[in-house]
Amino acid sequence: MTLPTFEPAYAKVNLCLFLGPTRADGRHELLTLFDSLTLADGLEVTPGPSGDRVVCAGVRGPNLVADALAALRAAGWDAPGLRVAIEKRIPVAAGMGGGSADAAAILRLAPRLAAVDPDVLAEIAAGLGADVPAQVDPGPSIGTGAGEVLQPLAALPPYAVLVLPQPFPLSTAAVYREADRLGLARTSDELSALHAELTAAVPDRLPDGLIVNDLQPAAVSLAPVIENALQAARDAGADRALVCGSGPTVIGLYTGGGGLERAAAAVQTLRASYPRATAAGAVGRCPGGVLDPTPNE
Ligand code: ATP
Repeated sequence: MTLPTFEPAYAKVNLCLFLGPTRADGRHELLTLFDSLTLADGLEVTPGPSGDRVVCAGVRGPNLVADALAALRAAGWDAPGLRVAIEKRIPVAAGMGGGSADAAAILRLAPRLAAVDPDVLAEIAAGLGADVPAQVDPGPSIGTGAGEVLQPLAALPPYAVLVLPQPFPLSTAAVYREADRLGLARTSDELSALHAELTAAVPDRLPDGLIVNDLQPAAVSLAPVIENALQAARDAGADRALVCGSGPTVIGLYTGGGGLERAAAAVQTLRASYPRATAAGAVGRCPGGVLDPTPNE
């Protein structure tokens, strides 16, 4: 592969997220249905003048892409030094897995720049965060374990989303702590029954009863204003409205063939109250969706 090159980093949506008991390692068991959205960051990768350098306006502090590059180097990956410029479009600290998507994008690119053992790559992905493995290979998948045990699926029935970013972040750790305080976790038996229900339905059907985010009451408890965005999405015609991952972003789901047009119309309706509202479709199992042209400020 010749540099410069460009790699999209797709936002993730959790179409369902069921919270199970806490494991011995302190992480919660999860059952989730991930999908990748055409809302995406862009990674421009060019040769670095000296070593690796990550430039990412809008994100302060250590960058997950720098961590991914460091882990690759530690594993003996010997691509030439890189400069990675990240254009953020995925809302930051918003439950859409933007940092994980960026790290996953560089891991997806890595074998095209220098040899790396696929098992080592998988280990690095899991070590960077529970959401990273699902995003290395974009598309729908059922996640179990802490979200890192993946069962890839064929494309889901057509749908689109209205994305309503909030003007404040929520820390994933704080939302999980609040979920614990509220006692939201289900038992292992409940999780197993839901797993059976989910695997029987997808990818052919996406039953309404399974479009649930157990973290939603915790996110709303920490930031009650999220309730207004949920109501705004419903009022704008969404078939379902839910908090995305650990929030605070709210997703309106528009199912069926004309979903993207309906979601785009909702964006127009809600722009005055939600200036960063956007519409997105599913990437599907073959990446190559159209990038959202509006970068975050
Ligand atoms: P998740 O749902 O995966 O827990 P999130 O969507 O809530 O994450 P991210 O946007 O991934 O949140 O960012 C979480 C934190 O990670 C941010 O506060 C930021 O400081 C840090 N971070 C490191 N690298 C990145 C990156 N490339 N993009 C966004 N955030 C990053």
